[in-house]
Amino acid sequence: MGERALRGVSAAPGVVAGEAIVLARAGLRASGAVKRADRTAEAERAREALRFATEELEQIVAVLRRGGREDDADIVETGVLMAMDPELIARVETLVVDAGLEAADALREAAEQTALELSALPDPMLAQRADDVRSVGRRASAHLLGETVSASQGILIADSLGPADVAELAPRVQGIALAAGGVTSHAAIVARSLGLPMVVGVGADLLEIVDGEEVIIDGDRGVVVRSPDVEHAVRARVDSDKRRLARQTAIARRLEPAETNDGRRVRVLANASTLAELEEATRQGAEGVGLMRTELLFLEATEWPSLDEQVNVMRPVLARLLGQIATVRLFDFGGDKTPPFLRGITARGIEVLLQRPEQMKRHLQAVVEAGRGARLRLLVPMVMSAGDINAVRSMLAVVLGGGDAPLVGAMIETPEAAHASAEIARQSDFLSIGTNDLTQLVLGLDREHSRKAPVMDPSVLSLIAKTVQAGQGAGIPVDVCGEAGSDSNSLPVMVGLGVDELSVASARVGQVRQWIRELSYADSSREAQNLLQQAGHAGSERV
Ligand code: PEP
Ligand code: MG
Repeated sequence: MGERALRGVSAAPGVVAGEAIVLARAGLRASGAVKRADRTAEAERAREALRFATEELEQIVAVLRRGGREDDADIVETGVLMAMDPELIARVETLVVDAGLEAADALREAAEQTALELSALPDPMLAQRADDVRSVGRRASAHLLGETVSASQGILIADSLGPADVAELAPRVQGIALAAGGVTSHAAIVARSLGLPMVVGVGADLLEIVDGEEVIIDGDRGVVVRSPDVEHAVRARVDSDKRRLARQTAIARRLEPAETNDGRRVRVLANASTLAELEEATRQGAEGVGLMRTELLFLEATEWPSLDEQVNVMRPVLARLLGQIATVRLFDFGGDKTPPFLRGITARGIEVLLQRPEQMKRHLQAVVEAGRGARLRLLVPMVMSAGDINAVRSMLAVVLGGGDAPLVGAMIETPEAAHASAEIARQSDFLSIGTNDLTQLVLGLDREHSRKAPVMDPSVLSLIAKTVQAGQGAGIPVDVCGEAGSDSNSLPVMVGLGVDELSVASARVGQVRQWIRELSYADSSREAQNLLQQAGHAGSERV
Protein backbone atom coordinates (compact mmCIF):
# COMPACT_ATOMS: atom_id res chain seq x y z
CA MET A 1 0.00 0.00 0.00
CA GLY A 2 1.36 3.45 -0.89
CA GLU A 3 1.19 6.56 1.27
CA ARG A 4 -2.30 7.68 2.24
CA ALA A 5 -3.07 11.15 3.58
CA LEU A 6 -6.04 11.65 5.91
CA ARG A 7 -7.01 15.29 6.13
CA GLY A 8 -8.07 16.96 9.33
CA VAL A 9 -7.47 20.31 10.95
CA SER A 10 -4.22 21.50 12.45
CA ALA A 11 -4.62 21.86 16.22
CA ALA A 12 -0.98 22.09 17.31
CA PRO A 13 2.05 22.63 15.06
CA GLY A 14 4.94 20.30 14.31
CA VAL A 15 5.62 17.17 12.27
CA VAL A 16 6.36 13.84 13.86
CA ALA A 17 6.59 10.19 12.77
CA GLY A 18 6.13 7.19 14.98
CA GLU A 19 4.14 4.09 15.81
CA ALA A 20 0.43 4.44 16.41
CA ILE A 21 -0.95 3.84 19.87
CA VAL A 22 -4.66 3.40 19.41
CA LEU A 23 -6.70 4.24 22.47
CA ALA A 24 -9.08 1.32 23.00
CA ARG A 25 -12.75 1.89 22.34
CA ALA A 26 -14.75 -1.00 23.71
CA GLY A 27 -18.08 -1.40 21.99
CA LEU A 28 -21.24 -1.36 24.07
CA ARG A 29 -22.61 -4.70 25.06
CA ALA A 30 -26.34 -5.29 24.97
CA SER A 31 -28.52 -3.91 27.69
CA GLY A 32 -29.93 -6.50 30.04
CA ALA A 33 -26.49 -8.10 30.26
CA VAL A 34 -26.55 -7.94 34.05
CA LYS A 35 -29.07 -10.07 35.94
CA ARG A 36 -31.53 -8.13 38.10
CA ALA A 37 -30.21 -9.68 41.30
CA ASP A 38 -26.67 -8.48 40.51
CA ARG A 39 -27.49 -4.93 39.46
CA THR A 40 -27.11 -3.24 42.86
CA ALA A 41 -23.62 -4.65 43.25
CA GLU A 42 -22.79 -3.72 39.65
CA ALA A 43 -23.91 -0.13 40.29
CA GLU A 44 -21.57 0.00 43.29
CA ARG A 45 -18.71 -1.19 41.03
CA ALA A 46 -19.50 1.69 38.70
CA ARG A 47 -19.54 4.22 41.57
CA GLU A 48 -16.24 2.82 42.84
CA ALA A 49 -14.72 3.22 39.35
CA LEU A 50 -15.83 6.85 39.25
CA ARG A 51 -14.19 7.40 42.64
CA PHE A 52 -11.02 5.82 41.26
CA ALA A 53 -11.14 8.13 38.22
CA THR A 54 -11.58 11.12 40.54
CA GLU A 55 -8.53 10.15 42.57
CA GLU A 56 -6.46 9.57 39.44
CA LEU A 57 -7.41 13.00 38.11
CA GLU A 58 -6.60 14.60 41.47
CA GLN A 59 -3.14 13.05 41.30
CA ILE A 60 -2.62 14.45 37.80
CA VAL A 61 -3.71 17.90 39.07
CA ALA A 62 -1.17 17.68 41.91
CA VAL A 63 1.64 16.67 39.52
CA LEU A 64 0.79 19.55 37.18
CA ARG A 65 0.72 22.04 40.06
CA ARG A 66 4.06 20.78 41.37
CA GLY A 67 5.45 21.37 37.86
CA GLY A 68 4.16 24.96 37.94
CA ARG A 69 1.58 24.23 35.21
CA GLU A 70 -1.29 25.98 36.99
CA ASP A 71 -3.39 26.59 33.88
CA ASP A 72 -3.27 22.95 32.78
CA ALA A 73 -4.02 21.91 36.37
CA ASP A 74 -7.12 24.13 36.44
CA ILE A 75 -8.35 22.56 33.22
CA VAL A 76 -7.86 19.00 34.49
CA GLU A 77 -9.49 19.93 37.78
CA THR A 78 -12.79 20.47 36.02
CA GLY A 79 -12.58 16.77 35.09
CA VAL A 80 -12.56 16.03 38.83
CA LEU A 81 -15.78 17.99 39.21
CA MET A 82 -17.27 16.11 36.26
CA ALA A 83 -16.42 12.76 37.85
CA MET A 84 -18.17 13.83 41.06
CA ASP A 85 -21.22 15.27 39.31
CA PRO A 86 -24.33 13.76 40.97
CA GLU A 87 -26.20 13.82 37.66
CA LEU A 88 -23.56 11.74 35.97
CA ILE A 89 -23.59 9.28 38.86
CA ALA A 90 -27.41 9.08 38.75
CA ARG A 91 -27.30 8.42 35.02
CA VAL A 92 -24.78 5.60 35.47
CA GLU A 93 -26.98 4.04 38.17
CA THR A 94 -30.07 4.20 35.97
CA LEU A 95 -28.24 2.54 33.10
CA VAL A 96 -27.08 -0.29 35.37
CA VAL A 97 -30.13 -0.78 37.57
CA ASP A 98 -32.93 -0.12 35.06
CA ALA A 99 -31.32 -1.08 31.75
CA GLY A 100 -28.99 -3.78 33.04
CA LEU A 101 -25.83 -2.45 31.39
CA GLU A 102 -22.50 -3.63 32.74
CA ALA A 103 -20.75 -0.99 34.84
CA ALA A 104 -18.01 -0.31 32.26
CA ASP A 105 -20.57 0.22 29.48
CA ALA A 106 -22.84 2.30 31.68
CA LEU A 107 -19.95 4.62 32.53
CA ARG A 108 -19.10 5.28 28.88
CA GLU A 109 -22.73 5.55 27.84
CA ALA A 110 -23.65 7.95 30.68
CA ALA A 111 -20.61 10.07 29.87
CA GLU A 112 -21.55 10.12 26.19
CA GLN A 113 -25.14 11.18 26.95
CA THR A 114 -23.92 13.95 29.24
CA ALA A 115 -21.33 15.02 26.66
CA LEU A 116 -23.94 15.27 23.93
CA GLU A 117 -26.11 17.46 26.16
CA LEU A 118 -23.18 19.68 27.00
CA SER A 119 -22.12 20.09 23.39
CA ALA A 120 -25.62 21.28 22.50
CA LEU A 121 -25.47 24.13 25.04
CA PRO A 122 -25.25 27.67 23.70
CA ASP A 123 -22.42 28.52 26.09
CA PRO A 124 -19.21 27.59 24.26
CA MET A 125 -17.29 27.21 27.53
CA LEU A 126 -19.74 24.56 28.71
CA ALA A 127 -19.95 22.94 25.29
CA GLN A 128 -16.21 22.41 25.36
CA ARG A 129 -16.53 20.32 28.52
CA ALA A 130 -18.05 17.51 26.45
CA ASP A 131 -14.66 15.93 25.82
CA ASP A 132 -13.80 16.26 29.52
CA VAL A 133 -16.79 14.22 30.59
CA ARG A 134 -16.15 11.57 27.88
CA SER A 135 -12.63 11.30 29.20
CA VAL A 136 -13.90 10.74 32.74
CA GLY A 137 -16.24 7.96 31.53
CA ARG A 138 -13.48 6.30 29.53
CA ARG A 139 -11.03 6.51 32.43
CA ALA A 140 -13.47 4.94 34.92
CA SER A 141 -14.51 2.29 32.43
CA ALA A 142 -10.90 1.43 31.53
CA HIS A 143 -10.21 0.91 35.23
CA LEU A 144 -12.97 -1.71 35.45
CA LEU A 145 -11.86 -3.48 32.30
CA GLY A 146 -8.24 -3.53 33.43
CA GLU A 147 -7.29 -1.43 30.40
CA THR A 148 -4.60 1.12 30.71
CA VAL A 149 -4.36 4.37 28.81
CA SER A 150 -0.63 4.50 29.37
CA ALA A 151 1.50 3.75 26.37
CA SER A 152 5.01 3.42 25.14
CA GLN A 153 6.49 6.23 23.05
CA GLY A 154 4.39 6.85 19.96
CA ILE A 155 1.58 8.66 18.19
CA LEU A 156 -1.72 8.62 20.01
CA ILE A 157 -4.76 7.87 17.85
CA ALA A 158 -8.20 8.27 19.43
CA ASP A 159 -11.74 9.34 18.78
CA SER A 160 -11.60 12.16 21.34
CA LEU A 161 -9.47 12.96 24.37
CA GLY A 162 -9.83 14.97 27.54
CA PRO A 163 -7.12 17.38 28.66
CA ALA A 164 -6.21 15.08 31.55
CA ASP A 165 -5.46 12.29 29.08
CA VAL A 166 -3.17 14.59 27.13
CA ALA A 167 -1.39 15.86 30.22
CA GLU A 168 -0.96 12.35 31.61
CA LEU A 169 0.18 10.77 28.37
CA ALA A 170 2.42 13.62 27.24
CA PRO A 171 5.72 12.16 28.46
CA ARG A 172 5.18 9.09 26.28
CA VAL A 173 3.35 10.64 23.35
CA GLN A 174 5.04 12.38 20.42
CA GLY A 175 1.92 13.52 18.60
CA ILE A 176 -1.86 13.15 18.59
CA ALA A 177 -4.57 12.63 15.99
CA LEU A 178 -8.27 12.63 16.81
CA ALA A 179 -11.19 11.52 14.70
CA ALA A 180 -13.36 14.16 16.39
CA GLY A 181 -12.39 17.23 18.39
CA GLY A 182 -11.87 20.88 17.57
CA VAL A 183 -8.90 23.18 17.49
CA THR A 184 -10.15 25.02 20.54
CA SER A 185 -10.87 21.90 22.59
CA HIS A 186 -9.04 21.80 25.86
CA ALA A 187 -7.10 18.76 24.73
CA ALA A 188 -5.78 20.85 21.84
CA ILE A 189 -4.89 23.69 24.20
CA VAL A 190 -2.90 21.36 26.43
CA ALA A 191 -1.22 19.76 23.38
CA ARG A 192 -0.14 23.18 22.12
CA SER A 193 1.21 24.19 25.47
CA LEU A 194 3.22 20.95 25.59
CA GLY A 195 4.51 21.36 22.04
CA LEU A 196 2.86 18.14 20.82
CA PRO A 197 1.88 18.18 17.13
CA MET A 198 -1.85 17.51 16.88
CA VAL A 199 -4.42 17.03 14.12
CA VAL A 200 -8.13 16.90 14.95
CA GLY A 201 -11.37 16.34 13.07
CA VAL A 202 -9.90 13.64 10.82
CA GLY A 203 -13.10 11.60 10.74
CA ALA A 204 -13.88 7.91 11.18
CA ASP A 205 -11.17 6.77 8.71
CA LEU A 206 -8.60 7.57 11.38
CA LEU A 207 -9.89 4.79 13.60
CA GLU A 208 -8.95 2.19 10.99
CA ILE A 209 -5.33 2.73 12.00
CA VAL A 210 -4.05 -0.23 14.01
CA ASP A 211 -1.72 -0.33 17.00
CA GLY A 212 1.92 -0.25 15.99
CA GLU A 213 1.27 1.09 12.48
CA GLU A 214 3.77 3.70 11.27
CA VAL A 215 2.11 7.12 10.89
CA ILE A 216 3.10 10.74 10.47
CA ILE A 217 1.27 13.57 12.18
CA ASP A 218 1.72 16.81 10.28
CA GLY A 219 0.34 19.36 12.71
CA ASP A 220 1.37 22.22 10.43
CA ARG A 221 -0.83 21.10 7.54
CA GLY A 222 -3.49 19.20 9.49
CA VAL A 223 -2.71 15.85 7.85
CA VAL A 224 -2.16 12.30 9.11
CA VAL A 225 -0.12 10.10 6.76
CA ARG A 226 -0.65 6.33 6.81
CA SER A 227 2.00 3.97 5.45
CA PRO A 228 4.46 6.82 4.86
CA ASP A 229 7.26 6.00 2.46
CA VAL A 230 10.66 5.67 4.08
CA GLU A 231 11.91 9.01 2.88
CA HIS A 232 8.84 10.82 4.24
CA ALA A 233 9.16 9.10 7.63
CA VAL A 234 12.86 9.87 7.90
CA ARG A 235 12.21 13.49 6.95
CA ALA A 236 9.55 13.76 9.67
CA ARG A 237 11.89 12.30 12.27
CA VAL A 238 14.67 14.69 11.28
CA ASP A 239 12.14 17.54 11.32
CA SER A 240 11.07 16.81 14.88
CA ASP A 241 14.66 16.50 16.11
CA LYS A 242 15.49 19.83 14.48
CA ARG A 243 12.42 21.44 15.99
CA ARG A 244 13.36 20.34 19.45
CA LEU A 245 16.84 21.78 19.10
CA ALA A 246 15.61 24.98 17.45
CA ARG A 247 13.11 25.54 20.24
CA GLN A 248 15.78 25.19 22.90
CA THR A 249 18.00 27.65 21.05
CA ALA A 250 15.10 30.06 20.51
CA ILE A 251 14.26 30.10 24.19
CA ALA A 252 17.89 30.69 25.10
CA ARG A 253 18.13 33.62 22.66
CA ARG A 254 14.69 35.15 23.25
CA LEU A 255 15.99 38.44 24.59
CA GLU A 256 18.22 39.16 21.60
CA PRO A 257 16.55 41.60 19.20
CA ALA A 258 15.13 40.41 15.89
CA GLU A 259 17.34 42.56 13.71
CA THR A 260 18.92 41.77 10.34
CA ASN A 261 22.70 41.60 10.26
CA ASP A 262 22.72 45.07 8.65
CA GLY A 263 20.57 46.63 11.32
CA ARG A 264 16.92 46.56 10.20
CA ARG A 265 14.64 45.84 13.14
CA VAL A 266 11.58 43.67 12.49
CA ARG A 267 9.01 43.28 15.23
CA VAL A 268 7.99 39.63 15.75
CA LEU A 269 4.53 39.13 17.16
CA ALA A 270 2.52 35.97 17.76
CA ASN A 271 -0.64 34.58 16.26
CA ALA A 272 -2.14 33.47 19.55
CA SER A 273 -5.75 33.00 20.58
CA THR A 274 -5.33 30.95 23.74
CA LEU A 275 -3.34 31.25 26.92
CA ALA A 276 -1.21 28.22 26.12
CA GLU A 277 -0.22 29.71 22.76
CA LEU A 278 0.56 33.05 24.36
CA GLU A 279 2.75 31.41 26.99
CA GLU A 280 4.73 29.51 24.37
CA ALA A 281 5.08 32.69 22.28
CA THR A 282 6.35 34.63 25.28
CA ARG A 283 8.87 31.89 26.09
CA GLN A 284 10.15 32.23 22.53
CA GLY A 285 10.50 36.02 22.67
CA ALA A 286 7.30 37.34 21.04
CA GLU A 287 6.92 41.12 21.37
CA GLY A 288 3.15 40.91 21.75
CA VAL A 289 0.25 39.44 19.82
CA GLY A 290 -0.18 40.33 16.15
CA LEU A 291 -3.26 38.23 15.53
CA MET A 292 -5.80 36.93 18.00
CA ARG A 293 -8.29 34.97 15.91
CA THR A 294 -11.35 35.62 18.08
CA GLU A 295 -13.70 33.60 15.88
CA LEU A 296 -11.82 30.38 16.69
CA LEU A 297 -12.91 30.75 20.30
CA PHE A 298 -16.59 30.58 19.34
CA LEU A 299 -16.69 28.11 16.47
CA GLU A 300 -19.02 25.75 18.30
CA ALA A 301 -21.38 28.41 19.67
CA THR A 302 -25.03 27.85 18.88
CA GLU A 303 -25.94 31.54 19.14
CA TRP A 304 -24.14 34.88 19.19
CA PRO A 305 -22.08 34.93 22.38
CA SER A 306 -23.17 37.45 24.98
CA LEU A 307 -20.97 40.34 26.11
CA ASP A 308 -19.97 38.43 29.26
CA GLU A 309 -19.21 35.25 27.37
CA GLN A 310 -16.95 37.13 24.99
CA VAL A 311 -15.14 38.98 27.77
CA ASN A 312 -14.76 35.81 29.83
CA VAL A 313 -13.12 33.96 26.96
CA MET A 314 -10.84 36.76 25.75
CA ARG A 315 -9.89 38.36 29.06
CA PRO A 316 -7.62 35.58 30.41
CA VAL A 317 -5.41 35.91 27.33
CA LEU A 318 -5.44 39.70 27.03
CA ALA A 319 -4.89 40.23 30.75
CA ARG A 320 -1.42 38.72 30.26
CA LEU A 321 -0.55 41.44 27.75
CA LEU A 322 -0.55 44.46 30.04
CA GLY A 323 1.39 47.25 28.33
CA GLN A 324 2.11 45.01 25.33
CA ILE A 325 0.71 44.95 21.82
CA ALA A 326 -2.52 42.98 21.68
CA THR A 327 -3.93 42.83 18.16
CA VAL A 328 -7.45 41.49 18.40
CA ARG A 329 -9.08 40.64 15.12
CA LEU A 330 -12.83 41.16 15.03
CA PHE A 331 -14.83 37.98 14.39
CA ASP A 332 -13.84 36.56 11.00
CA PHE A 333 -16.84 34.25 10.69
CA GLY A 334 -17.76 32.65 7.39
CA GLY A 335 -16.21 30.09 5.04
CA ASP A 336 -14.63 27.25 7.01
CA LYS A 337 -15.08 29.29 10.20
CA THR A 338 -18.87 29.29 10.31
CA PRO A 339 -20.36 28.40 13.71
CA PRO A 340 -23.71 26.57 13.86
CA PHE A 341 -25.68 29.78 14.45
CA LEU A 342 -24.48 31.28 11.18
CA ARG A 343 -24.84 28.20 9.00
CA GLY A 344 -25.79 29.06 5.43
CA ILE A 345 -24.30 32.56 5.32
CA THR A 346 -22.34 33.57 2.26
CA ALA A 347 -20.76 36.70 3.75
CA ARG A 348 -17.32 36.53 5.37
CA GLY A 349 -15.37 38.62 7.86
CA ILE A 350 -16.36 42.22 8.56
CA GLU A 351 -19.32 41.97 6.17
CA VAL A 352 -21.01 39.54 8.59
CA LEU A 353 -20.71 42.10 11.40
CA LEU A 354 -21.67 45.08 9.23
CA GLN A 355 -24.90 43.28 8.41
CA ARG A 356 -25.59 42.95 12.16
CA PRO A 357 -24.81 46.30 13.81
CA GLU A 358 -26.02 45.25 17.27
CA GLN A 359 -23.67 42.26 17.26
CA MET A 360 -20.81 44.41 16.02
CA LYS A 361 -21.42 46.89 18.80
CA ARG A 362 -21.47 44.18 21.46
CA HIS A 363 -18.34 42.59 20.01
CA LEU A 364 -16.47 45.92 20.03
CA GLN A 365 -17.57 46.49 23.63
CA ALA A 366 -16.28 43.05 24.59
CA VAL A 367 -12.92 43.51 22.87
CA VAL A 368 -12.38 46.94 24.44
CA GLU A 369 -13.37 45.61 27.87
CA ALA A 370 -11.26 42.44 27.60
CA GLY A 371 -8.26 44.36 26.25
CA ARG A 372 -8.10 46.93 29.05
CA GLY A 373 -4.50 47.63 30.05
CA ALA A 374 -2.97 46.23 26.86
CA ARG A 375 -1.78 48.27 23.86
CA LEU A 376 -4.94 47.27 22.06
CA ARG A 377 -5.12 47.19 18.27
CA LEU A 378 -8.35 46.19 16.54
CA LEU A 379 -7.90 44.34 13.30
CA VAL A 380 -10.69 44.29 10.73
CA PRO A 381 -10.92 41.05 8.72
CA MET A 382 -11.70 40.69 5.01
CA VAL A 383 -11.74 44.43 4.36
CA MET A 384 -12.90 45.32 0.85
CA SER A 385 -12.62 49.11 0.93
CA ALA A 386 -11.78 52.11 3.12
CA GLY A 387 -15.50 52.34 3.85
CA ASP A 388 -15.28 49.20 5.99
CA ILE A 389 -12.69 50.86 8.24
CA ASN A 390 -14.74 54.02 8.52
CA ALA A 391 -17.81 51.99 9.46
CA VAL A 392 -15.89 50.21 12.24
CA ARG A 393 -14.50 53.52 13.50
CA SER A 394 -17.99 55.06 13.65
CA MET A 395 -19.35 52.15 15.65
CA LEU A 396 -16.28 52.23 17.89
CA ALA A 397 -16.89 55.92 18.63
CA VAL A 398 -20.42 55.04 19.81
CA VAL A 399 -19.09 52.25 22.02
CA LEU A 400 -16.29 54.33 23.54
CA GLY A 401 -18.39 57.40 24.14
CA GLY A 402 -15.29 59.63 24.15
CA GLY A 403 -12.89 57.24 25.90
CA ASP A 404 -9.43 56.41 24.57
CA ALA A 405 -9.68 54.73 21.18
CA PRO A 406 -7.60 51.66 20.36
CA LEU A 407 -5.73 51.61 17.06
CA VAL A 408 -7.71 50.29 14.11
CA GLY A 409 -6.01 48.29 11.37
CA ALA A 410 -7.12 46.65 8.15
CA MET A 411 -6.43 43.09 7.11
CA ILE A 412 -5.33 43.22 3.49
CA GLU A 413 -6.31 39.78 2.31
CA THR A 414 -8.60 40.35 -0.65
CA PRO A 415 -7.42 41.52 -4.08
CA GLU A 416 -9.92 44.41 -3.77
CA ALA A 417 -8.29 45.60 -0.56
CA ALA A 418 -4.78 45.28 -1.98
CA HIS A 419 -5.76 47.39 -4.99
CA ALA A 420 -7.39 49.97 -2.70
CA SER A 421 -4.61 49.77 -0.10
CA ALA A 422 -3.47 53.39 -0.49
CA GLU A 423 -6.94 54.69 0.37
CA ILE A 424 -7.44 52.08 3.11
CA ALA A 425 -4.05 53.00 4.60
CA ARG A 426 -5.12 56.64 4.92
CA GLN A 427 -8.03 55.57 7.13
CA SER A 428 -6.07 53.00 9.15
CA ASP A 429 -3.50 53.02 11.95
CA PHE A 430 -1.75 49.92 10.61
CA LEU A 431 -2.12 47.30 7.89
CA SER A 432 -1.81 43.55 8.29
CA ILE A 433 -1.40 41.41 5.18
CA GLY A 434 -3.28 38.10 5.34
CA THR A 435 -1.22 36.17 2.83
CA ASN A 436 -3.26 32.99 3.36
CA ASP A 437 -6.49 34.35 1.96
CA LEU A 438 -4.81 36.80 -0.39
CA THR A 439 -2.89 34.03 -2.15
CA GLN A 440 -5.93 31.81 -2.51
CA LEU A 441 -8.21 34.61 -3.69
CA VAL A 442 -5.74 36.13 -6.17
CA LEU A 443 -5.04 32.74 -7.72
CA GLY A 444 -8.63 31.50 -7.53
CA LEU A 445 -7.75 28.50 -5.33
CA ASP A 446 -10.03 26.85 -2.80
CA ARG A 447 -8.60 27.57 0.63
CA GLU A 448 -10.47 24.77 2.36
CA HIS A 449 -9.09 22.08 0.09
CA SER A 450 -6.06 23.51 -1.63
CA ARG A 451 -2.80 22.05 -0.43
CA LYS A 452 -0.80 24.88 -1.97
CA ALA A 453 -0.20 28.47 -0.94
CA PRO A 454 2.02 29.88 -3.69
CA VAL A 455 2.58 33.26 -2.09
CA MET A 456 5.65 33.84 -4.28
CA ASP A 457 3.48 33.88 -7.39
CA PRO A 458 4.23 37.19 -9.15
CA SER A 459 0.62 38.37 -9.05
CA VAL A 460 0.46 37.84 -5.29
CA LEU A 461 3.85 39.37 -4.61
CA SER A 462 3.06 42.50 -6.59
CA LEU A 463 -0.07 43.06 -4.46
CA ILE A 464 1.93 42.57 -1.28
CA ALA A 465 4.49 45.09 -2.54
CA LYS A 466 1.71 47.52 -3.39
CA THR A 467 0.29 47.20 0.11
CA VAL A 468 3.66 47.77 1.77
CA GLN A 469 4.12 50.92 -0.31
CA ALA A 470 0.63 52.07 0.67
CA GLY A 471 1.48 51.68 4.34
CA GLN A 472 4.77 53.49 3.94
CA GLY A 473 3.06 56.25 1.99
CA ALA A 474 0.63 56.76 4.86
CA GLY A 475 3.39 56.47 7.47
CA ILE A 476 1.82 53.47 9.23
CA PRO A 477 3.33 50.06 10.07
CA VAL A 478 2.69 47.07 7.86
CA ASP A 479 2.51 43.56 9.25
CA VAL A 480 2.30 40.15 7.62
CA CYS A 481 0.20 37.78 9.70
CA GLY A 482 -0.35 34.99 7.17
CA GLU A 483 1.84 31.92 6.96
CA ALA A 484 4.21 33.64 4.50
CA GLY A 485 5.76 35.39 7.51
CA SER A 486 7.08 32.15 8.97
CA ASP A 487 8.04 30.27 5.82
CA SER A 488 11.78 30.13 5.22
CA ASN A 489 11.35 30.84 1.47
CA SER A 490 8.97 33.76 1.65
CA LEU A 491 10.15 35.39 4.91
CA PRO A 492 13.25 37.04 3.34
CA VAL A 493 11.07 38.43 0.57
CA MET A 494 8.55 39.85 3.04
CA VAL A 495 11.37 41.49 5.00
CA GLY A 496 12.98 42.67 1.74
CA LEU A 497 9.72 44.28 0.64
CA GLY A 498 9.91 46.38 3.80
CA VAL A 499 7.30 44.95 6.17
CA ASP A 500 7.73 46.21 9.72
CA GLU A 501 6.24 43.30 11.62
CA LEU A 502 5.75 39.57 11.21
CA SER A 503 3.07 37.84 13.22
CA VAL A 504 3.59 34.09 13.29
CA ALA A 505 2.34 30.94 15.02
CA SER A 506 3.54 30.82 18.63
CA ALA A 507 5.69 27.77 18.08
CA ARG A 508 7.49 29.57 15.20
CA VAL A 509 8.34 32.81 17.01
CA GLY A 510 11.87 31.85 18.05
CA GLN A 511 12.77 30.37 14.67
CA VAL A 512 11.52 33.47 12.86
CA ARG A 513 13.50 35.76 15.13
CA GLN A 514 16.61 33.71 14.44
CA TRP A 515 16.05 33.76 10.65
CA ILE A 516 15.76 37.55 10.76
CA ARG A 517 19.09 37.82 12.60
CA GLU A 518 20.74 35.79 9.85
CA LEU A 519 19.34 37.95 7.02
CA SER A 520 20.86 40.88 5.21
CA TYR A 521 18.19 43.50 4.57
CA ALA A 522 20.12 44.86 1.59
CA ASP A 523 20.30 41.41 -0.03
CA SER A 524 16.66 40.66 0.78
CA SER A 525 15.54 43.97 -0.76
CA ARG A 526 17.52 43.19 -3.90
CA GLU A 527 16.01 39.71 -4.09
CA ALA A 528 12.50 41.11 -3.66
CA GLN A 529 13.14 43.72 -6.32
CA ASN A 530 14.42 41.09 -8.75
CA LEU A 531 11.37 38.94 -8.21
CA LEU A 532 9.07 41.88 -8.83
CA GLN A 533 10.94 42.95 -11.93
CA GLN A 534 10.79 39.43 -13.30
CA ALA A 535 7.07 39.58 -12.71
CA GLY A 536 6.96 42.66 -14.88
CA HIS A 537 5.99 44.73 -11.90
CA ALA A 538 6.64 48.24 -13.10
CA GLY A 539 5.85 51.52 -11.43
CA SER A 540 7.34 50.68 -8.08
CA GLU A 541 9.88 53.28 -7.06
CA ARG A 542 11.19 51.78 -3.89
CA VAL A 543 11.39 48.07 -4.63
C1 PEP B 1 -4.73 35.17 6.38
O1 PEP B 1 -5.70 35.06 5.62
O2 PEP B 1 -3.55 35.21 5.98
C2 PEP B 1 -4.94 35.25 7.84
C3 PEP B 1 -3.94 35.48 8.66
O3 PEP B 1 -6.19 35.04 8.30
P1 PEP B 1 -6.81 33.58 8.54
O4 PEP B 1 -5.72 32.57 8.25
O5 PEP B 1 -7.27 33.53 9.92
O6 PEP B 1 -7.91 33.56 7.54
MG1 MG C 1 -7.68 35.42 6.41
